[in-house]
Amino acid sequence: VFNFAAGPATLPENVLLRAQSELYNWRGSGMSVMEMSHRGKEFLSIIQKAESDLRTLLDIPSEYSVLFLQGGATTQFAAIPLNLCTPEDTVDFVVTGSWGDKAFKEAHKFCKPKLIWSGKSEKYTKIPSFNELDQTPDARYLHICANETIHGVEFKDYPTPKNGSGILVADMSSNFCSKPVDVSKFGVIYAGAQKNVGPSGVTIVIIRKDLIGNAQGVTPVMLDYKIHDENNSLYNTPPCYGIYTCGLVFEDLLEQGGLKEVEKKNIKKGEILYNAIDESNGFYRCPVEKSVRSLMNVPFTLEKSELEAEFIKEAAKEKMVQLKGHRSVGGMRASIYNAMPLAGVEKLVAFMKDFQARHA
Ligand code: PLP
Repeated sequence: VFNFAAGPATLPENVLLRAQSELYNWRGSGMSVMEMSHRGKEFLSIIQKAESDLRTLLDIPSEYSVLFLQGGATTQFAAIPLNLCTPEDTVDFVVTGSWGDKAFKEAHKFCKPKLIWSGKSEKYTKIPSFNELDQTPDARYLHICANETIHGVEFKDYPTPKNGSGILVADMSSNFCSKPVDVSKFGVIYAGAQKNVGPSGVTIVIIRKDLIGNAQGVTPVMLDYKIHDENNSLYNTPPCYGIYTCGLVFEDLLEQGGLKEVEKKNIKKGEILYNAIDESNGFYRCPVEKSVRSLMNVPFTLEKSELEAEFIKEAAKEKMVQLKGHRSVGGMRASIYNAMPLAGVEKLVAFMKDFQARHA
């Protein structure tokens, strides 16, 4: 099937086949990665290679730490203010969708978040122009969600924080490793793995080293970046198999030629799908402003909304699954992450045209 789920999402077939071939006996060790001690030399080589390949892929500068954690991006909504702020600190939030809103709400428990821009009144279809942002001069950091998975809104460029310390924090869960990113523009990048780079259970945090070590006193050990950094993500038992799978994905992305090449493929897939929507004479609609449409999550509705259930049912019969939009917005959503082949998007577009011909 072609799986258009928003996450956990489709993984590259060759990665799954490789994992299968190593399932019982990882490279002559006589053990599955699932059975290995996280302190043994075999697993150490796996996690170190995963980190080193990720550093190559994203060209991560040496003054940044890479942490492989647990708890999903949702846990980072708390961990970030706990590690970066005092309870009195103000933090600026630009909220362009539901995930940014969740991060904003969670931050209230640990600092003083300020909503400096929200796209809610326009149903989260826009990104603000950066010079219209009224940033708080002494905000500890500026938080954005680089790609809103539910609403399909993606930053194509990033605002510069105007606060004294200039820290930009980004939730990249749903466009992580989908294109090159200048990591040096960010204080913290965080992402759940389960969209572009692996199975659920692994959360990746890329953090500038000077931001580590100031956690609030109440911070649980598991949320303290210093503890994880000092222990190379091995303070407690990490999600070993998930990290191994992420490592296989990183190898695959490097073999594809790196993130520039990956981005080219993603642009092509996005163009084909958005063109099909825009050229349908209103039969299909995507509400998101064209310049900020996500290359990862493509939400669309049918002019005749009563046909949406039929669309999803017929698509599933043709082996295109998980096209239902998020329960909070309805309609359809096609998530076309790195691992969705061009053939999957072409098949979906052909189906959309055929469906329209039959129902227009
Ligand atoms: N942020 C974004 C952009 C997401 O898409 C998601 C999940 O879909 C989350 C945060 C929450 O991630 P998790 O379920 O890993 O906690």
